[in-house]
Order: sequence, then structure tokens, then C-alpha cells
Amino acid sequence: MAKKDWRGGIDWEVFVRDGYRCVYCGLDLIAHGDRWDLFAADHLVPKSKRGADSLLNLVTACLGCNRLKSGFDPEKTKDGIDALTEESKSRLIERAKVHIESERRKWAADAQSMLKEAKRL
Ligand SMILES: [Zn+2]
Repeated sequence: MAKKDWRGGIDWEVFVRDGYRCVYCGLDLIAHGDRWDLFAADHLVPKSKRGADSLLNLVTACLGCNRLKSGFDPEKTKDGIDALTEESKSRLIERAKVHIESERRKWAADAQSMLKEAKRL
């Protein structure tokens, strides 16, 4: 994240609004304040899927959730599009949480395999 995006910028405003807490996993980023590199302003609807750089679309995330969510678009449902609005935002966040948790489980399984292999070296 470029420095211009921090103090006084929209990302900063997002962190303050969300209480410096990851909206996906609840990680208290202030408790890890010395790890400023964990802070991410995540595009709920990814930029690659026409997500805007707006207060509506940006949410506070830890770097882990930000990476695990990646290009997942919570607006897309099996029935079509559930467009992001102030009213639908919490629903879209919940969909992103389900996706992130699923990805986290997959990565955890891979990490276990990697740790087992590393101990053999
Ligand atoms: Zn998180």
C-alpha cells in the first residue's frame, strides 16, 4: 500500500470507521499496531469486478483475509447479482467470510503438509 493511501486518505477513514478490526475474521489490528503491514483496505467487490474505491466498497481487512478473499466477488450469487448497497453490505461481507474461511481451511491443510516436509529436511 502506498504511503499516500494512509493518513488522511480513504483507507485511513475505512480503518477508523471499522474500529481497526478485520471485518472478516475480527482480528484486532490495533492489538498488532506494530504490524502495520497487516492492515489492508479490502475492496469488498474486487476492483477487477468493477468494485469502486469508495467508502461503501472498502472494508478493513487483515492481510491474511485480504489475500484469501482475493478476486472473490460477493455480489455474484447463483441467482444473479446482489448489488452492493448500504443495506446489502453485511450480507456481502458474510458471503466473503464463508469464502475466506473455506480458503483458510485449504491453506491450513497445505501448511500442515509443508510443515511435515520441512521437519524432514
Ligand atoms: Zn482477517
